[in-house]
Order: sequence, then structure tokens, then C-alpha cells
Amino acid sequence: MAQYKILVSGASIAGLTLVYWLKQYGFEVTVVERASELRLGGQNIDVKGSAWEIVKRWASSKK
Ligand SMILES: Cc1cc2nc3c(=O)[nH]c(=O)nc-3n(C[C@H](O)[C@H](O)[C@H](O)COP(=O)(O)OP(=O)(O)OC[C@H]3O[C@@H](n4cnc5c(N)ncnc54)[C@H](O)[C@@H]3O)c2cc1C
Repeated sequence: MAQYKILVSGASIAGLTLVYWLKQYGFEVTVVERASELRLGGQNIDVKGSAWEIVKRWASSKK
């Protein structure tokens, strides 16, 4: 599947999650982000619902 080149716009949680899974399946991925630097501030993260299922699949995909 590496013949497909995919451009993902936005390097936040959705963009980076998509990049992770696309690369797991062999796609060549480029990410663009309009922010000029990493945003270090933030709040506590509350993972629940469908997000919890994604985290579990992410953890079990690690080799
Ligand atoms: C105060 C606050 C607290 C929150 N707390 C929680 C929480 O506890 N739990 C939870 O699950 N959710 C929480 N949320 C919601 C959560 O932050 C969003 O649902 C989540 O960030 C959405 O992720 P996203 O990747 O879809 O979009 P975003 O996080 O909005 O990311 C979009 C990215 O795309 C980039 N971008 C936009 N346009 C372009 C462009 N033209 N070219 C290149 N890059 C571009 C942006 O710079 C950004 O990095 C909270 C939100 C706020 C505001």
C-alpha cells in the first residue's frame, strides 16, 4: 500500500492518531501544522467513551 502518499493537515490529537494508524498499515504520510511551535500548556486530559477504545487498540498494537 506504500504507493499511496497521504497529506494530513493538523498535528493535534486527530491528525496524529490518523498518522499513526495510516503508518501502521503501510501508507506514506506527511503532516503539516500551521502552529509555529509546540503548545506546551494545557489542561488535564479526560479520556472516555470511544477515545478509551482507541487508546486500548493503540496499546495492543505496540510490538
Ligand atoms: C479548555 C478545553 C478543555 C478540553 N478538555 C478535554 C478533555 O478533557 N477531554 C477531551 O477528550 N477533550 C477535551 N477538549 C476537546 C479537545 O481539545 C478537542 O476535542 C480536540 O482537541 C479536537 O482535536 P482535533 O485534533 O480534532 O482538533 P484540534 O485539537 O483543534 O487540532 C487541529 C490542529 O490542526 C491545525 N490546523 C488547523 N488548520 C490548519 C491548516 N489550515 N493547516 C495546518 N494545520 C492546521 C491546528 O493548528 C491544530 O493543531 C477540550 C477542549 C478545550 C478547549
